[in-house]
Amino acid sequence: MGSGWYIPQLNISFGCASTMWPSSIKAELIAIWTALLAIPTSIQHVNILTDSQASIDGIKKFTPRNIRQLFKSPNAAIIEQIVRIANLKFASVQWTKVKAHSGDTGNDLADDLAKRAAILAKNYNSYIIQPLYSSLHSVLKFKLLWNNIFWDGQIRSNLITFATLPYCADWIKSKAILPWTNDDHINTVPASVTKYISNLDSLDRIYFSSSFIRWDYTWNFLKTLRHMNRFGPSLSSLTSFAIKALNNLLPTGDILAKRHQLIYNNWTCVFCNTALESLRHLMMCPSLSQQWLSVSNSILNFLHSLTNKLQIRADIPTDPQHFFPALPGQSDSQLLPPVQSLSIGIFPAYILSDLYNMGIRRQLDVISTNLLKHAVKAFRDTIWKPRCILNAKKEKRLGISLADKRFCALSSSATPRLNADQNSSNYYQTLLERWKSNWVMGHEEMTRFVKQGSNGFNWGLCRKNITNLTKFI
Ligand SMILES: [Zn+2]
Repeated sequence: MGSGWYIPQLNISFGCASTMWPSSIKAELIAIWTALLAIPTSIQHVNILTDSQASIDGIKKFTPRNIRQLFKSPNAAIIEQIVRIANLKFASVQWTKVKAHSGDTGNDLADDLAKRAAILAKNYNSYIIQPLYSSLHSVLKFKLLWNNIFWDGQIRSNLITFATLPYCADWIKSKAILPWTNDDHINTVPASVTKYISNLDSLDRIYFSSSFIRWDYTWNFLKTLRHMNRFGPSLSSLTSFAIKALNNLLPTGDILAKRHQLIYNNWTCVFCNTALESLRHLMMCPSLSQQWLSVSNSILNFLHSLTNKLQIRADIPTDPQHFFPALPGQSDSQLLPPVQSLSIGIFPAYILSDLYNMGIRRQLDVISTNLLKHAVKAFRDTIWKPRCILNAKKEKRLGISLADKRFCALSSSATPRLNADQNSSNYYQTLLERWKSNWVMGHEEMTRFVKQGSNGFNWGLCRKNITNLTKFI
């Protein structure tokens, strides 16, 4: 990121770029730091004008009493230098906030210098400022390094992010989530989709966003649901329903068979009575086409009322069957159609393109999060609840009692994941390898984060969502 300053009285200006742990405040602070270094000592009273109130606050409020507090302050290393130079070199330093982009010539010039430095730094290393933290005067008697990079970020919160990333890696590779990413577990359009793209329209639609799934909407949705837990059991059960649906953990026949193999072996769908029951089957079951149409219809009506409420003029199609069209080749691919995806809490980014074409171009965060919430609810009410009633009847008909289920739970293998040919040391080895690869993936993601900030995350997560994710795993 670029930093720049201009001193009209001396007619000198400067621009440089910084790398690692990027943030706009860091760039501002580097500008202030280098400016203070450049002012001759003959000048004793300095007035710094900046458009960053956060930088001024950071400097003024910087009074760490101990190392713990120092580590809590963002950009502590740079602020420490600024405060030190200001006290050593000058009789007084005044901090003034100017409004950004308000026609202040000095400020605009500094902005331009910063932008130009950031562009030049891409080709010329000499524009990059790399403070040698190890030789700076500091109250810290040590400096943390990570991969030979000085740990310049907020140590506490960044360490939490770092520690979380291997768990995120594990989740992104879980069976339920795997099909939604490409082969490298990156949140771009999977090869199973690209091979069917045959015309420009679907190309535009699928590459409307750089990511394939908007996981941030999923986290947002789960977060809002979690806040509603306090309003009673029906809403808290919706939270657990949503988490289970997302991770393919709803008690469908295939999942139940893992726990009670004897009872639920070859458990068929209660609607068509032919295919084996799984979440995926419920999404595609031919006997449920009417119910899915009514889910679509309910999403359509909801979108109507939501856009009305938000006073957005939208041209929403009236036909529930086609308002979010399936991807080309959807029926062959492992991926679910759009409405079905929404109803398990997954928001494909190409839906944004559909919303955009309907004229919905603002408040997309609110609309998308609410669409997910509505779709999950509609799926639960229209399909899942009737399924549970029918399933209970089926169990009763077959004479399966609660006691049977309990008994079977005990008699089935205590460690169901262990196959006969797999001894525990093998299993340990498998888990170890899995953890190692998660660790490597998390590590790579952290490197990206250090270099590019939260923009660097590759899985369509942003930093606040990663912290949210820890609450769900
Ligand atoms: Zn069926």
